[in-house]
Amino acid sequence: MSSFEDVFGTTPEGSWRAPGRVNLIGEHTDYNDGLVLPIALPNRILVTASKRDDGRIRVASTGHRGVIEFAIDELTPGSVGDWAAYPAGAAWILRESGYAIGGANLLVDSDLPSGAGLSSSAALLCATSVALLGLRDIEVDPGEVARLAQRAENNYVGAPVGLMDQMASMCCTAGHALYFDIRAMSTEQIPFDPAADDLALLVVDVKAPHRHVDGEYAARRKSCEQAAAELGVPALRSIAFEELDAALDRLPDDVVRRRVRHVVTEIRRVEDAVALMHAGRLRDVGPLFTASHASLRDDFEITVPELDVAVDSALAAGALGARMTGGGFGGCIIALTEANAADPVLAAIEKAFAEHGFNAPSALAATPSAGASRADQGARSGRSRGRSD
Ligand code: ADP
Ligand code: MG
Repeated sequence: MSSFEDVFGTTPEGSWRAPGRVNLIGEHTDYNDGLVLPIALPNRILVTASKRDDGRIRVASTGHRGVIEFAIDELTPGSVGDWAAYPAGAAWILRESGYAIGGANLLVDSDLPSGAGLSSSAALLCATSVALLGLRDIEVDPGEVARLAQRAENNYVGAPVGLMDQMASMCCTAGHALYFDIRAMSTEQIPFDPAADDLALLVVDVKAPHRHVDGEYAARRKSCEQAAAELGVPALRSIAFEELDAALDRLPDDVVRRRVRHVVTEIRRVEDAVALMHAGRLRDVGPLFTASHASLRDDFEITVPELDVAVDSALAAGALGARMTGGGFGGCIIALTEANAADPVLAAIEKAFAEHGFNAPSALAATPSAGASRADQGARSGRSRGRSD
């Protein structure tokens, strides 16, 4: 692996990290004005940086070949393609928002799987943004950086993502899940520290082959919007759990009814999970994970055999609860287990995958971690404050 000096011929002035995330519960509720509950992972994208005075950005990634260079002033949506669209998008939105970020050399390093649903895209946008701001000692509220990163992903990269991933990467704190109410645009830190309770949260990438994710996502979104229109509400969040049966009676289409039932019951499960976490009853959260998975499988129909087999084998091996997490059709599952059951649960999933002829899964331990921060604190005095890593 080349060092910063080898790539750019100069010494770095600092490094900044932004983590990936998993959503504990609250799936496909974000575009329904609902509730989500992500944690930040220990796995992160790290951007090491130095200033340039020529208004240009030169960026390299340890995961990709070559150095890509562009002038910040010349950026227009989509003007830089491939993976460098993310750092270019971060520079573009900061310029559009009036931040004087000058130019920079940026080296991207990552221990976060890419394309696995753990939001390496948001982590890359957030890490680049905090690096570009940090280099110039510009302080911006983490929630505002998250909104800027979302706009970059929407308008520069062209991916119609919600705000959860960027909020998790920027605003999570260690030992907590981030309770994010999309309708109210409010957040709350919820105590969630499995290790302190002799528990473990396993994240397993099921390595499912790519399927038609974008089209299916658009179809689910359309069903939810159609249902909200038929019910005369701005979004399905407005349908209270207690009103669900009456609402379902008013919807003629069975598929739409099941989509609505998922969203409304899932929002209730997020509220229940938060109440249990506040009460310190983490083990009781497990069955909510399992109920969420059943709802995503049967009502929302976004699981694939790899996700179902992973969840079923985790439960059969003693997990307290398990569910797919992320957009669906692949990606990861999470399983809540007793600390000493994590290895046997993973072994059971690996065995089942081998028997089914699936790709070998890979796992990481999901310790709820802190959001983006400077990563080399103490290396340089200055005003940029970061949370500790
Ligand atoms: P996810 O966000 O679930 O990981 P996405 O498809 O949204 O998946 O984002 C993955 C993309 O992010 C990659 O295709 C690549 O363009 C970019 N990316 C992720 N990690 C890196 C990295 N270490 N270096 C360069 N680009 C990366
Ligand atoms: Mg992404």
